[in-house]
Amino acid sequence: MVDSTELLATLGYWEECGVQLPPMSRNPGQAHSPKIRSRMPLFPAKENNSLQNNPELFSRSEPPARVPIRPAPILPPVTTPTPILPVQEVTIARGGETLEDIQRQVAACTQCRLAVTRNQTVFGTGSAQAPVVFVGEGPGEDEDRQGEPFVGAAGKLLNRMLQAAGFNRETIYIANVVKCRPPGNRNPLPEEMTACQGYLFRQLTQIQPRVIFAMGKIAITCLLGQTGAVSRVRGKIHEWRSIPVIPSYHPAYYLRQPAQKKAGWQDLLVLLNLLQSGSQDRP
Ligand code: SF4
Repeated sequence: MVDSTELLATLGYWEECGVQLPPMSRNPGQAHSPKIRSRMPLFPAKENNSLQNNPELFSRSEPPARVPIRPAPILPPVTTPTPILPVQEVTIARGGETLEDIQRQVAACTQCRLAVTRNQTVFGTGSAQAPVVFVGEGPGEDEDRQGEPFVGAAGKLLNRMLQAAGFNRETIYIANVVKCRPPGNRNPLPEEMTACQGYLFRQLTQIQPRVIFAMGKIAITCLLGQTGAVSRVRGKIHEWRSIPVIPSYHPAYYLRQPAQKKAGWQDLLVLLNLLQSGSQDRP
C-alpha cells in the first residue's frame, strides 16, 4: 500500500531535482497504476562509471525499490595504507572490536582540541550491516546538542534525499569524518582530521559496506586524499580499500545552491545502480 504523504514528498523532491514526472503522478492513487508505470522509463543498466556519459540516469521517474540488506562481502585484507592523511596508532582498526567498542573510545576521546568545546561526541547512526555508509564532515550545532549526525537543516534535506532514493536511516549508516563539533561550524582542521579519521576508518572496516557515499570536500579528502573541488572528482566511482566510493556534494551545499540538487540526485542514482547491479562487477 502506497503511503500518499510519503509518495507526495518523494515526488516533490524529484521535481526540485528537475525530474520530469508524468502529469498524473501528482495523484498518488494513479502514480503507481499499471498504466502509468508502463510509461515510466526503467532504471537503465549501468554502462560505465561516468555520470556525464549516462544521461538516461536522469530520466528515471519510477520510485526506486528498497535496497535489500544483504551480508557484506568479505573484503580482501588491507595490505597498504590508503594514501591520505597520516593515521595515529590509536586509529588503526583492531580485529574483533565492535562499533560499540569504537563508540566508547570516541566518547572518551581527547585527542584533539575539539574535545574542549564539544557538548558531546557524535559517533554515527544506522545499521551495522548497512549496504551503504553516507559520510559527512562533522557535527554542527544541532548534532552537537542531540548527539546524532545530520539532524539539523542539512540533515532534514538528507532525509528527503534518502526517502526519494528509497532508503531510510535505519537500514543505512551515517557518520562524519570528525566526531566533535568544530566551533562555529568551521571546517575541521587537517590536524583534527588526522586525529579523528581513524575512528571513521574503523567504523567502515567493521561495517564493510558495499558502497561509501562521500558527501562534501572534507569526506572526499579523508577517504580519497583529493583536496580539489568536489566537481573535479564527481562523476566517477573511486575506491577506499576496495570499497567503491561515490563522491558527491554535502547536503548543506544544496541549501545554498538548490539548483545543484540535480547533481546530488544523479549521484544517488549511481549509488542505486551500483547497489542493484552489485558492487563486485563494477568496471
Ligand atoms: Fe577525539 Fe575526534 Fe573528538 Fe578530536 S574530534 S576529540 S579526535 S573524537
